[in-house]
Amino acid sequence: GTTPLYLGIDFGTSGARYALIDRQGAIHSEGKRPYSPVGDAAGWASSWRAALFQLIDDIPPTLRPSISSISIDGTSATTLVVDSETGELLAGPFLYNESFPDALPAVASIAPANHTVCSGTSTLCKLVSWWNAAGGGSAGAAVLMHQSDWLLWLLHGQYGVSDYNNALKVGYDPEAGAYPSWLASQPYAPMLPSVRAPGDPIAAVRDDVCSQYGLSKECVVCTGTTDSIAAFLAARTSEPGRAVTSLGSTLAIKLVSKVRVDDARFGVYSHRLDDAWLVGGASNTGGAVLRQLFTDDQLVALSRSIDPAAASPLDYYPLPRKGERFPVSDPDMAPRSLQPRPESDVEYLHGILESIARIEAKGYNLLRELGATAVEEVFTAGGGAQNDKWTAIRERVLGVPVRKAEQTEAAYGAALLALKGAGRRVGVQS
Ligand code: ADP
Repeated sequence: GTTPLYLGIDFGTSGARYALIDRQGAIHSEGKRPYSPVGDAAGWASSWRAALFQLIDDIPPTLRPSISSISIDGTSATTLVVDSETGELLAGPFLYNESFPDALPAVASIAPANHTVCSGTSTLCKLVSWWNAAGGGSAGAAVLMHQSDWLLWLLHGQYGVSDYNNALKVGYDPEAGAYPSWLASQPYAPMLPSVRAPGDPIAAVRDDVCSQYGLSKECVVCTGTTDSIAAFLAARTSEPGRAVTSLGSTLAIKLVSKVRVDDARFGVYSHRLDDAWLVGGASNTGGAVLRQLFTDDQLVALSRSIDPAAASPLDYYPLPRKGERFPVSDPDMAPRSLQPRPESDVEYLHGILESIARIEAKGYNLLRELGATAVEEVFTAGGGAQNDKWTAIRERVLGVPVRKAEQTEAAYGAALLALKGAGRRVGVQS
């Protein structure tokens, strides 16, 4: 074909997916591959590499020469240490949810209080823990890579390039556009990648990869982002005041704001999004509680009888277990969703859906109180987005238009980054 195409690949928590889109955003091909890691940590890297090249191999061969650009998202704070002379994996991958509390005292002694790096799972804790164990100075040509940096590197072969979404948890300051001096002065600072905007063209695909998979020699590899930012990008809502609520097992909100907002008490922090900020917060309420009470079929059947225009008087705080972070910070908060239970399951479900909607509204209000742009329109992702009655309840409670996001796959968001990078290269605005 001759239509230029843009490839996005998502490496999420459970598997890898790709989406191949055209300039208008239409999907020409998509697919997925699971990971099957064997053995130690290095087994993860091998399984990611295998999934990456399997996915490229899954793309219909007739479409591959039309791919203009590629971008990849990965899980945030998943970290590898690579020898930049041999390409050999020196350490890791350290997975996104692995904690290195041994590094916390050293990190806390250099970083500002409550900085996002002051968490055992942060990329910086992973780096410092490795640095201390590896004996510091002997690091030589070692470089730090995030998961998506490493996967992109397999395609383009250049060392030391990352994006400001992935680099946030190693301590990069996206507002200043630099590593802060408390970090840049550390002995391991030479291991840190240079940081660019997500979707920035890095280099052409390696010759051997082009010839093996039938990719164009013009195909350019662009910087990536994290999986949750990629999922947000999929909804194509970049104007301040627009937001995406994800109603999956948990409730997470992401709001485009003109103002950067961070508050460690509530786990609220901001990612840079071009010239704006993407402010996020995540509650422990959400679909996991619904799943404890009803099957998905029951949810559909019961929801049919709900009148979303009527406000439910039931006041619950559904949690799968004790403890809440956002929009209320209380590690001891007890779930409140079983009493009083009305006779009617329709009324019960109505009360739960409405209570979760109130928590969502409280979340957006909290972001506003912390200084973020007020929410004007909400797009919805996740299993709860299928429920039109819930959408109508949320619209009434939030007081703004609520609709289902057309695209919610992170791979689609990564493809939009590839499109952005290719657009820049040929001087076309995306
Ligand atoms: P995750 O990927 O976070 O596990 P999903 O986005 O797949 O979650 O969404 C699954 C959740 O959606 C489940 O917890 C389920 O209770 C909820 N869900 C499924 N169908 C409905 C529905 N019709 N109404 C409300 N919630 C639903």
